[in-house]
Amino acid sequence: MKKHFVILALASVMAIPAWGQRNFQASTDTFEESATAGQWLDAPGAQAALPAGKKAKNVIVIIGDGMGTAQVYASVVAQRGLSNFLRFPFSGFSRTFSNNRYTTDSGAGGTAIVTGHKTDNNHIGVLADGTPVKSILSMAHEWGLSTGFVVTSSVLDATPASTYAHVPYRKMFDTISLHMSQCGFDVMIGGGLSNFRPENRKDGLNPLDTLLKNGYEITYSLEEMKKSRSDKLVTFFCENYYGPVAPGRDPVLVEGTKKALDILAKNPKGFVMMIEGSQIDWGCHNNDAAYMEAELADFEKMLKAVLDFAEKDGNTLVVVTADHETGGLVLKGGDIEKGRNECKYITDGHSGVMVPVFAYGPGAETFSGIQNNIDLMPKMLKAMGRKSTIK
Ligand code: MG
Ligand code: ZN
Repeated sequence: MKKHFVILALASVMAIPAWGQRNFQASTDTFEESATAGQWLDAPGAQAALPAGKKAKNVIVIIGDGMGTAQVYASVVAQRGLSNFLRFPFSGFSRTFSNNRYTTDSGAGGTAIVTGHKTDNNHIGVLADGTPVKSILSMAHEWGLSTGFVVTSSVLDATPASTYAHVPYRKMFDTISLHMSQCGFDVMIGGGLSNFRPENRKDGLNPLDTLLKNGYEITYSLEEMKKSRSDKLVTFFCENYYGPVAPGRDPVLVEGTKKALDILAKNPKGFVMMIEGSQIDWGCHNNDAAYMEAELADFEKMLKAVLDFAEKDGNTLVVVTADHETGGLVLKGGDIEKGRNECKYITDGHSGVMVPVFAYGPGAETFSGIQNNIDLMPKMLKAMGRKSTIK
């Protein structure tokens, strides 16, 4: 079995220019069937070459909050080599500094990734001087594509908010929730219900009513979300923030992603979607390696669902990156066979190191090398065959 796998893997590398999506998928299928723990460690990496000039109909941008290179390798080891990160044919690095800080926060980091603009820390969807800037999701919505996001934090948290809100301070939840209720995205899934309740707001407004008036079905649990037949869906899984995935959080990341893909993929024009593994950051802030690894394992399941979709679809660009690294994580040692990492954190905050970028699908090759975080969004536009208006 092992020999079979090696031959297939080599064949896929040697045939880069000629091998298309379908051949890649065929080899991957066999690969998965025959691979046992540890085998993927020796894999040369998936080498899916797509026909030059093919446009991306769909774009899925995935943000692992706080997910630096060490976090990714911790996941590769924890999965004993059977990591979905190894399925990406192209990878590079992203420089994460913000407009006013060597080390970014998630507001400026998220804004840079989805709008293509540097801004000051704590800002969301605005330049340092307060000028609003549009995200690739907002643009796609205006072009008639479907749009949505799935997160494991509140829907109002900095990372998702940078896709639809425009505020100078990330904790302006009353304003952010109003912006969300009016953004027009098709699917929005996460926590954060309490800020939508009029009794919890200073302005007394009711953005839940606005969402209903704007045609959304609002669901409040995983079961309700799965049962929904609506093509405009908001799901609140909790009042504020979810707990960690271990123990006990529902599989909201992977199930929310699958539900969103079901809805968004119906649009013949395509879709743009953002998915965030929000709590990798929180585990690292806590210097809690078990928390971090559980969130990464959850992230892996979501990645599998996304890559399986993209492989089947053939027209979907998938870009995975982080807004910044958290914890200054060092992997001092470990055991690859047992899937064990020896983690040491040097800070309970963010660090300024470059973070990895992984890409799959049409245009994926443009994400190689060292790039700035604000380069990612124009590259996504280019992959879609759209002109970037970013200076
Ligand atoms: Mg975040
Ligand atoms: Zn953080």
